[in-house]
Amino acid sequence: MARKPGFNTLAAHAGQLLDPYGAVSPPIYQTSTFAFPTVEEGARRAGSYSEAFYTRWGNPTLRLAEQRLAALEGAEACVLTASGMAAVAVAVLSVVGAGDHVVCAECVYSGTFELFRKTLPRLGVEATFVDPTDPENYVRGARPNTRLMYVETPANPVLAITDLRAVAEAAHRVGAVCVADNTFATPYNTRPLSLGVDVVVHSATKYLGGHHHLVLGAVAGPHRFLASWREQLRVFGGCADPFSAWLLLTGIQTLGLRVERQNATAQRLSEFLRGHPRVERVYYPGLTDHPGHEVAQRQMRGFGGVLSFEVRGGLEAGRTVVERLRWMKLAVSLGGVHSLVTHAASTTHVHVPREERLRAGISDGLIRVAVGVEDPEDLLDDLEQALA
Ligand SMILES: *Cc1c(COP(=O)(O)O)cnc(C)c1O
Repeated sequence: MARKPGFNTLAAHAGQLLDPYGAVSPPIYQTSTFAFPTVEEGARRAGSYSEAFYTRWGNPTLRLAEQRLAALEGAEACVLTASGMAAVAVAVLSVVGAGDHVVCAECVYSGTFELFRKTLPRLGVEATFVDPTDPENYVRGARPNTRLMYVETPANPVLAITDLRAVAEAAHRVGAVCVADNTFATPYNTRPLSLGVDVVVHSATKYLGGHHHLVLGAVAGPHRFLASWREQLRVFGGCADPFSAWLLLTGIQTLGLRVERQNATAQRLSEFLRGHPRVERVYYPGLTDHPGHEVAQRQMRGFGGVLSFEVRGGLEAGRTVVERLRWMKLAVSLGGVHSLVTHAASTTHVHVPREERLRAGISDGLIRVAVGVEDPEDLLDDLEQALA
């Protein structure tokens, strides 16, 4: 076969798990430990991060999921972690140490922001936060001891788009490693490694799992990082468990199908909302007036399944809309088959002072919609009745 397999073929087949029965759905190795036939074999497995030594080192079900994800991201290596935050920590702590400096986008995921703002300084690592929509800010933020540049695209709350190629170049110019959180885009829409980014991190809890039924993360990139990633997992203990890895393998097989639908539905809902008299503004990279539209067009196959909009009437209107939606559930997270909405001003950010919240771009009426795979007509109806 001369043709390179496409995304959906890889999503269903990539990776190898030796199984004497030829099980089409992979077995779950629900075991913490593995027996060695000889002491020599035990020593070999201990020294090589074998997939059959101890599950915190590796496990056959985890290994298969890692191989599959690596194939989808076009990466040489991948490790699965207990959560997206464990993946972020593994990727960052494999690169930086006391005395180092990092440049980070100001609009990253809240847990990541906390890691850079609170945890790393305690370990002697300084962070500079920049507006990532102008990649020159990464160049300006660099210092002689900058070891890492961190980016997330698209990013909350207004789906900010960052030019991945430009940030990777800024990082390499000063000898730093570029890490990108590819959770929102998924490898179906964007492949950061092909744009020069060194390491990709994921909250697999979102699109990769895709059914709101697991919490996992992953780090993917070149082979030279693999030993260090495994060491972080071995020492800090944030390893994935076999059953969740199996759920992930099941979910990932339909990633391309789901994301294609979610791209299309998000575009449709964005256009509907933009024409609605009760809506002040819509943020979606697929709309030509989104400030990141051109860059998104260059680096994304589709514009993703998350959009946000400002409803007229402020805080009260925002809460009314999210409480009246029927198919769209009021819940944090994104990327699964169920549509979810959040109204940050009344829920996740209710304890954040209003000025600070507004500075972060979270206006009173801002609602985020993470579309699922439901029929788009039903989601349109749902928005229409809630806005009415
Ligand atoms: C959810 C999320 C994370 C954290 O992932 P968990 O699986 O919840 O630990 C990191 N980055 C982004 C962009 C996310 O959406």
